[in-house]
Amino acid sequence: MYNVKGNIRKVQASLPDDVRLVAVSKFHPNEYVMAAYEEGQRVFGESHEQEIKQKYATLPHDIEWHFIGHLQTNKVKYIAPYISMIEAVDSMKLLKEINKQAEKNSRVIKVLIELHIAEEEAKYGFTLDACRQMLEEGEWREMKNVQICGLMMMASFVKDESQVENEMMQAANFFDEVKTKYFADDETFCERSWGMSSDYHIALKCRSTMVRIGTTIFGPRVY
Ligand SMILES: *Cc1c(COP(=O)(O)O)cnc(C)c1O
Repeated sequence: MYNVKGNIRKVQASLPDDVRLVAVSKFHPNEYVMAAYEEGQRVFGESHEQEIKQKYATLPHDIEWHFIGHLQTNKVKYIAPYISMIEAVDSMKLLKEINKQAEKNSRVIKVLIELHIAEEEAKYGFTLDACRQMLEEGEWREMKNVQICGLMMMASFVKDESQVENEMMQAANFFDEVKTKYFADDETFCERSWGMSSDYHIALKCRSTMVRIGTTIFGPRVY
């Protein structure tokens, strides 16, 4: 087996105490998750509803599962009973559906708002202006079964580190803006989820509080 234990120990050791690691286990088997679990890892990220369901059913129940990919509205009901955090809320429609399904399950689901800052068209998320508008309209304030815990983004997948840093700093500055304006009294709005295998060293310079790392820990994914 790939050296999951050695890799995750190295990654864990490279992170400051106030940065949380989401180990991205999508497309990797349960035994890889268990190897990381045995090294104390409890937060795992997945991006497919069927796969996370299978893992949730068979792996220890003190694992916190984060849904990190694009989530279709019609899939929310399947993960609502157990998901710990939905990281990539990219539309008001999705936020409303999460609130509705969380209410049905008598729980509060933690979410992050996904920002679209990267130049790549294919990425999801709110532009900064769309996010400002959504927060200003205020409908989210009525949603008692979602807790908005912060922001998430993916930087452009490019070699130019200064571009990646620039995008992550835009996200960090935007966090300060909305924190002051809408969440000043809300201590749970505190997460800045950016940084993956290729760019988490940059994310740490850009005030990330949560990094989502797959390949560096588990090796290349076989799709
Ligand atoms: C797959 C994925 C990751 C992890 O990517 P690696 O390059 O394997 O570290 C992080 N974030 C999101 C949203 C992903 O879909």
